[in-house]
Amino acid sequence: MSDYDYAWYAKHSFTPLINVSGTMTGLGASIITQSAIAEATAEAMQHFVSMHEAQARASELIAQLTQAEAGCLTASASAGISLSVAGCMTGLNPGKVEALPAADGMKNEVIVQAGHLCGYGAPIAQAITLAGAEVKSVGQSTSCCDYQISSAISENTVAALYVVSHHVVHYGQCPLSRFVELCHARDIPVIVDAASEYDLTGFLAAGADIVIYSGHKFLGGPTAGIIAGRKDLVKAAYLQNLGIGRGMKIGKESIMGAMAAMQAWLQRDHKAVLQHEYQCLELWQNALADAPGIRASIVPDPTGNPLYRLQVDIDSDTTGWTAAQAVTALAADEPKIIVRDHEIEHGYFQLDPCNLQPGQEKEVSQRLVKTLKSDAPSRHPAADARNGSVNGYLSWLT
Ligand SMILES: *Cc1c(COP(=O)(O)O)cnc(C)c1O
Repeated sequence: MSDYDYAWYAKHSFTPLINVSGTMTGLGASIITQSAIAEATAEAMQHFVSMHEAQARASELIAQLTQAEAGCLTASASAGISLSVAGCMTGLNPGKVEALPAADGMKNEVIVQAGHLCGYGAPIAQAITLAGAEVKSVGQSTSCCDYQISSAISENTVAALYVVSHHVVHYGQCPLSRFVELCHARDIPVIVDAASEYDLTGFLAAGADIVIYSGHKFLGGPTAGIIAGRKDLVKAAYLQNLGIGRGMKIGKESIMGAMAAMQAWLQRDHKAVLQHEYQCLELWQNALADAPGIRASIVPDPTGNPLYRLQVDIDSDTTGWTAAQAVTALAADEPKIIVRDHEIEHGYFQLDPCNLQPGQEKEVSQRLVKTLKSDAPSRHPAADARNGSVNGYLSWLT
């Protein structure tokens, strides 16, 4: 079947799975594919180091990667949002850092376009309010005009957050460069959440003051968040380790692992990776080519990342399957095949090849054909994809 050995799953009594959904926290985010990253992580566990020194080396590397003045690492991108907002509120005043989330005497409004108030497994608004800030939603979900941004800025505004993601509304939003112009005209720093974006330089180049990335998404490192940008704001975010950042701290092992992942990113043959991923998509597309009622098309990433996915549209009248039933059926056998089902209500699912283990593309191909060409959808109750993630938490340990 595949060249990949599922022994690790058996050893720990885990259910084997194939991840064709992308980088999902609920599946363990990403895997470390280069041994140098795993070695750097494991090696760090055996030594003491001044964390300030480790973070200073990280800052240099983040600066090299992003063209930022400085950078630091924290537990996750979500933590990066909370710490960056907190840093804008406290500056370098440790007394204020200790006081948060009580924000007495601090400016604490953060403006965000309504269409950017998304969730990524948790509400982004909560990552802001955790710092003691208040969210000021601007415009309507599908429209945000310049005057609405300008009039949302008040004496109490401390920062503006801009989100680049497939999770946000994709039309009617203010472009980043204009958003920055409007905010900077009133001396408001702009924080960009680009957790999942491959572009490591463009958002700072467009004028952002802080940009946040995940270390465990496209970078394929251990769980970490990268904060890059203006040195004074990065220092203020880092200072939060004396306060709310304590519960969001990053260990030395993840610092060294994240740095190795950044190095690997600089050296990686991006073209070859993309080419291999594209071959997987073509393999699956060809496998489904003659299946009646199924249309498989290769689609680009919605935010322009250099990656493609296979979109499988299912005509229920012809096939008898709904897309939700197909997703449930693919996850019912072992190894479970976990596909991308964010937009399942539209009658399609997607296959993301970026996290495949060697040879798993063949297993996916066989299972797709076997499942979608069989005619037993009544065995599988319609999946409640919309509520799946919360149900997973609620049914844990029952
Ligand atoms: C994944 C994601 C996050 C959260 O990233 P973590 O590093 O897992 O905390 C935040 N914002 C966006 C847009 C994301 O896609």
